[in-house]
Amino acid sequence: MNKAFVRESDSDVRHCPFCGSLGSAVGRVTLDAWLKPEFRGQIGESAMFCIQPQCEVAYFDSFERVVTIDKLTRPAYPKSADAPICGCFGLTCGDIEADVADGSVARTRAAVERAKSPDARCSAMSANGQSCVGEIQRHYFKCKAGAP
Ligand SMILES: [Zn+2]
Ligand SMILES: [Zn+2]
Repeated sequence: MNKAFVRESDSDVRHCPFCGSLGSAVGRVTLDAWLKPEFRGQIGESAMFCIQPQCEVAYFDSFERVVTIDKLTRPAYPKSADAPICGCFGLTCGDIEADVADGSVARTRAAVERAKSPDARCSAMSANGQSCVGEIQRHYFKCKAGAP
């Protein structure tokens, strides 16, 4: 076994230590926005967001430090089903489901347009630090596939 390789993979922890899901990399902007100030020091400058909805770990880092969802400033999608997918503009899964039920794409399309605009602040407003456009589209197609 090559020791250099082991050390390198240890320092690059990308899977949640609790549930084993692949995390989504986040930076300081996201962590500062989502962690209550008293818990901000529990994790480093950059971390990973656990994307598994049922897992209580919100963020973890390469030192196996974890911050659980109760340390966050507000409910985070997808940990909380009622939380907005897009923190920027408040679009929820319910809005998307309403679109699918109406046979419309009005709410979903408007949110995607806004999320692509310069006003979007996804890196701070979405818990996974990513643009919410991908999540919105994924949820829309999932609902549409499940609709009668
Ligand atoms: Zn997890
Ligand atoms: Zn957004």
